[in-house]
Amino acid sequence: MPKAIRRAAVLGAGVMGSQIAAHLANVGIPTLLLDVVPKELTPDEARRGLTLEAKPVRNRLALGALQRLAKLKPSPLFSPEVVELITPGNLEDDLPRAAEVDLIIEAVVEDLAVKQALWKRVAEYWQPGTIAASNTSGLSIAAIAEATPAAFRQHFLGAHFFNPPRYMKLLELIPTPETDPAVLEQMRAFGEEVLGKGVVVCKDTPNFIGNRIGVYGLMVVLDAMQRHGLKVDEVDALTGPVIGRPKSATFRTLDVVGIDTFVLVADNCRATIAGPEAEVFTVPEPLRELVRRGWLGQKSKQGFFRKEGGEIQVLDLDTLEYRPRQKASFASLEAAKAVPDLSQRIRTLAFAPDKAGQFLWDVLKRTLLYSAQKVGEIADDFVSIDNAMKWGYNWDLGPFELWDALGLAESVARMKAEGEAVPAWVEEAAARGGFYASREAAAPVSGRVIRIDGLKAQGRVVREKKGATLLDMGDGVLLLETHSPKAAIGPDVIAVMRQAAEELHTGKWTGLVIGAQTPNFCVGANLMMILMEAQEEEWDEIDRIIKQFQDAAMALKYAPRPVVAAPYGMTLGGGYEIAAAADMIVAAAETYMGLVEVGAGLIPGGGGNKELLIRALEGLPVAGGGLGASVPLASGAAVDLQPLLNKVFETIATAKVSSSGPEARGLGYLRKTDRIVANRDHLLYEAKKAVLALDQAGYQPPKPVTIPVLGPEGRAVLEMAIYGMQQGHYATEYDGVIARKLAYVLTGGDVPSRTYVSEQYLLDLAREAFLSLCGEKRSQERMQYILKTGKPLRN
Ligand code: NAD
Repeated sequence: MPKAIRRAAVLGAGVMGSQIAAHLANVGIPTLLLDVVPKELTPDEARRGLTLEAKPVRNRLALGALQRLAKLKPSPLFSPEVVELITPGNLEDDLPRAAEVDLIIEAVVEDLAVKQALWKRVAEYWQPGTIAASNTSGLSIAAIAEATPAAFRQHFLGAHFFNPPRYMKLLELIPTPETDPAVLEQMRAFGEEVLGKGVVVCKDTPNFIGNRIGVYGLMVVLDAMQRHGLKVDEVDALTGPVIGRPKSATFRTLDVVGIDTFVLVADNCRATIAGPEAEVFTVPEPLRELVRRGWLGQKSKQGFFRKEGGEIQVLDLDTLEYRPRQKASFASLEAAKAVPDLSQRIRTLAFAPDKAGQFLWDVLKRTLLYSAQKVGEIADDFVSIDNAMKWGYNWDLGPFELWDALGLAESVARMKAEGEAVPAWVEEAAARGGFYASREAAAPVSGRVIRIDGLKAQGRVVREKKGATLLDMGDGVLLLETHSPKAAIGPDVIAVMRQAAEELHTGKWTGLVIGAQTPNFCVGANLMMILMEAQEEEWDEIDRIIKQFQDAAMALKYAPRPVVAAPYGMTLGGGYEIAAAADMIVAAAETYMGLVEVGAGLIPGGGGNKELLIRALEGLPVAGGGLGASVPLASGAAVDLQPLLNKVFETIATAKVSSSGPEARGLGYLRKTDRIVANRDHLLYEAKKAVLALDQAGYQPPKPVTIPVLGPEGRAVLEMAIYGMQQGHYATEYDGVIARKLAYVLTGGDVPSRTYVSEQYLLDLAREAFLSLCGEKRSQERMQYILKTGKPLRN
């Protein structure tokens, strides 16, 4: 039986090994990171009098990797101190320590002989129960473990992470016929629940699923563009967001991956795949020439694209000369761009009679048919292939979802008319109305996944408005889902918040989850609405909306039943304020949380200030029983509130946004008792569980709190800091205006130091300050700028 995974070792401290170690550390697993021992001293090591026996030399590669981790962007680390969980070492002195760990992941060079030799050595120290995995991109897993003992091979499998491992959701797991099913199951649970990955189980075939289909798709694009006479920039215009694929489309993706890397992977396919399909993986001559010339893409500053004198140029594949980029002009592309719905857009394009339409039909047809042929050979089912392409290649639709979108019956008919062989099971699916028409195919893969569209399909809507819906999650738990355009808060969301609180008073419900499944949890208040009201000087209207938002948040906070918020992705401004109203937050590990109002020329108006203050003050050893005891501090009490206030002020005044869930805790947005869940797909399930647990524990709503504020005395310290920031040119003159308003609110206005004030008092102060800023020309400019560019203006 495999052991529970508490400690790990990663072999190979290159691009992948170091970042896999970082992600293990992110989730709290102490990890050894080992690489080869250098054979020569660097000039610097020699100067420092070190020898080849010295540890800093022997561990040089892993030590260097740790330094690079701290600098990489986007950061592989949830927070900087995570790196302390990684112990650097080397593959000679430290290999015996393989006996101390529960999981070993190997990520050394993609060379079968090197991997085989290393695993043979590791197997000598390996202890029964320890899971052993290779991160190979496409070598045979069975072949890698060939020379190891049988007991070891039962614990061995492929664990293929995608780069960058923290952010790419896909984790391909590849058991061999000898892998113990319990080992695969343990690794799947670990991947999904602890590392937060989307696991797809693959068969041990060349390049597994993602890269097999992905590279085939790329080869088909290269071939079709030649046949249809399309240019690099035209292909990128047709193979990007317009068909639900990343902005980098085909050629910019290749530039980022590295053209040499792509050629290697394609060559590996060509060499290892049997039968006529191997031909498709033949690399076109112009690409080989690019590798010969060292035009490898981003890493060599030129590939299919380059920057010349500030202008982006594109390569002509016929002449291998660069020319200015041109906007692709196809009637079908223009028509498709006007269609907001992805499925309809794909249909518009793929069935268009012009060159663009013919090219796309050709590419899609071959990719879809190939994916269908490979079911059974590279994966057990088509859903795995869809998941691999969505999670590993960032496609919005997997091949079979796309095929459904295209119209399965119609496209199959056209394929057959064109003489293609269509697998019988695809025709059966077409007769049933699509791949996902059956209940089983559409069901979530894991019991921990609650899908909101599924709840809606089951008719579980309790109340609904344009921007938000109340749903019945089952077991008496309500779900407040926000889904307004761009996930912003407007009057309809506020109305549904209020309705949710009302429902909790009816006695019908056990509790409430606040969640969503849009790309981001919530990016804050609808700025456009506020700006328009401000420009029309509708001050009473703004006051009314903010008051309603405050009231709705307070109604949720003091509702008689437990409320748990489940934020993820961007959770900004009012989005955080909704979450902060809950009794508990169950946040995704990838949560970018912050009160960012100052960037829009405002301060938090919906309760964010007081909630951050309350979180900072909670648990303090205050005379009379802590926050909320409504008694002044005992005279001479040792607790100095100023540093806590300073931190809250700095967090809001500089619009600090967490780069992860754990960091949100460090910044004071989350409480120690709030939870962080690695896998975003499990959030609603975990939040619902938390509601039920709070109920079981005999939930009582919170008692109204009073908050000690520091008045003008405490404000003077903040104003000094503002002055300092301006003198040091870290803050503009107008930043200072906003920061002083914030300081006024956070210190409770003009009351004596250490006065206890009510939440409503602080809400009123915040609303007043918010309104006054709305009337300022420079705040309006900030709002306008952010709406236009998505970036803050520092006027
Ligand atoms: P890399 O070149 O960055 O790192 C490879 C590491 O292997 C280096 O640190 C090197 O010192 C070490 N090494 C070299 N020779 C060795 C030997 N004889 N014995 C032991 N270690 C040796 O490569 P990478 O991109 O991190 O790839 C590592 C593995 O991960 C490969 O199997 C690769 O196919 C796979 N992979 C890579 C990516 C990617 O995008 N880079 C993605 C998924 C999987």
